[in-house]
Amino acid sequence: MTSIKHNLQQVQQRISAAAAQCGRCPQEITLLAVSKTKPASAIEEAVAAGQHCFGENYVQEGVDKIQLLANPDLVWHFIGPLQSNKSRLVAENFDWCHTVDRLRIAERLSQQRPDPLPPLNVLIQINISAEQSKSGIMLAELPALAQQIAALPRLKLRGLMAIPAPQDDYASQLAVCQQMAAAFKQLQQQYPGVDTLSLGMSDDMDAAIAAGSNMVRIGTAIFGARDYVSAAATHNN
Ligand SMILES: *Cc1c(COP(=O)(O)O)cnc(C)c1O
Repeated sequence: MTSIKHNLQQVQQRISAAAAQCGRCPQEITLLAVSKTKPASAIEEAVAAGQHCFGENYVQEGVDKIQLLANPDLVWHFIGPLQSNKSRLVAENFDWCHTVDRLRIAERLSQQRPDPLPPLNVLIQINISAEQSKSGIMLAELPALAQQIAALPRLKLRGLMAIPAPQDDYASQLAVCQQMAAAFKQLQQQYPGVDTLSLGMSDDMDAAIAAGSNMVRIGTAIFGARDYVSAAATHNN
């Protein structure tokens, strides 16, 4: 067994255990394998082990892998900060964008989404820990932005995404994740197409799942540590 296959099984087991802990069905929870900085060969190993959903943070790097692998069975999620001048590449190549946090970028993605493709699935990013330096909107801004995005023809509003500030105790993690889950449920009542809460990484996955997350984003535990030095040299987002 390759180490990526082994790691994927371990992560799936963690998801199953976390789901069992709170009486949820593990099939409700999608594992997004975060492959940023990793070569296409690593993604191929994960695909061979049954993984289909991949997350990328850097536009050009992600597009290169999407085009190289050219596998219609794979589902590609853009999960990095998005600048306006890169929106076209996301609209043309990815299936999902998790980091929509302003109308301007949503409008561009909608305009730039090619007609033959289905609408781009989008998540609104929430700055749930209200960190100065982080992207995402405040929860108070959500109703207005959701309404504007839902009206755009080539986007499909699917839900919410957040990257909570790291906290090492479970109770604090759970409290933040529950705030996200409450906002998600409220959004779902207004927009029937909303079905995805992208929340939970390696360190807060258990709390995220207990709160109701149905998409967790895991990189290192699947692909191993990233080499940020060479990664930074080969892309500037
Ligand atoms: C890198 C990244 C992840 C995965 O992080 P790991 O620590 O490697 O599991 C998840 N979500 C986002 C938004 C990321 O940028």
